[in-house]
Amino acid sequence: MKIIIPDNMIQEVLSELEKLGTVVYKPQDLSKEIKDCEVLIVRSATKVTKELLSHAKKLKVVARAGVGTDNIDSNACKSKGITVINTPSASTNAVAELTISFILSLLRNTHLAHASMKSKKWEKKKFVGQEASGKTLGIIGFGRIGNLVGQKAKCLGMNIIAYDPKPVSSSNVKFVDLETLLRESDLISLHTILVPETKEIINAKTISKMKDGVFLINVARGELVNEQSLYDSCKSGKIAGAAIDVYQTEPYTGKLLELENIFFTPHLGASTNEAQLRIGKELVEKLREWCTANR
Ligand code: NAD
Repeated sequence: MKIIIPDNMIQEVLSELEKLGTVVYKPQDLSKEIKDCEVLIVRSATKVTKELLSHAKKLKVVARAGVGTDNIDSNACKSKGITVINTPSASTNAVAELTISFILSLLRNTHLAHASMKSKKWEKKKFVGQEASGKTLGIIGFGRIGNLVGQKAKCLGMNIIAYDPKPVSSSNVKFVDLETLLRESDLISLHTILVPETKEIINAKTISKMKDGVFLINVARGELVNEQSLYDSCKSGKIAGAAIDVYQTEPYTGKLLELENIFFTPHLGASTNEAQLRIGKELVEKLREWCTANR
């Protein structure tokens, strides 16, 4: 079985995959290599488009090492009889922990204070912060990650409210409609999937309904936020600060980078050693199951 992996993969997982077949890691010409491959494994960087799939003659499985399959044209896969698999739970804790680190950084200005000290300044008064305890955290999308963020933030003494069209029963959270969430939250964190209804769910109109001086966190998908509206509202101070891990175009080099009150990371949500190992193990297990059922 020929397995192609165009995106980064840790050595432990590559070794396990080599037991399942012939691995071609980071091919120079993906559209050429894909011709006779049976399994394609991607993270978020490679876009599995209809055009790419048109080169594949033997492809049986597209495996996403991670949660979101929005970089995979699932309709094109379906029409070619290609199975799409992913590893939904493996990165949940890593993303939730990054979110908590963003909440604390935004409230205490640690990222700004660090940059200031690196330029040999001692701006103690400038960086007086706020405490998480007692603040209201609004979570948009209360699935695996949103739920875990809620649990962890509760331990910081935060009040948790959430908006999700499919609310679950949980003692950690009060479910509200989107308008109420926008109006009542001191911090808003996005954890919904990207679907047509959530595309640019954060835009000029929804931002205008938020509290003045709100904080915004996006570790879910770049397309959930209208970048121009984020730029304008961070510049005016309507949004006091934002922490962003994901972008409409990645790698991101756009104008949001001009703003001091946005804290940026380069799509690091699932980038922990532990999550990468969990993702790899879940992936190998699912591929083994698929091989047993289909070969
Ligand atoms: P999940 O499927 O468990 O949860 C998503 C939730 O969004 C569900 O509860 C769903 O009901 C809800 N939802 C659907 N439509 C909605 C709407 N219109 N408004 C509000 N909520 C809506 O997914 P998850 O595993 O918790 O992942 C959440 C997000 O995090 C996804 O976008 C995923 O791609 C992203 N993610 C990012 C990274 C990263 O590296 N930054 C890593 C993993 C996951």
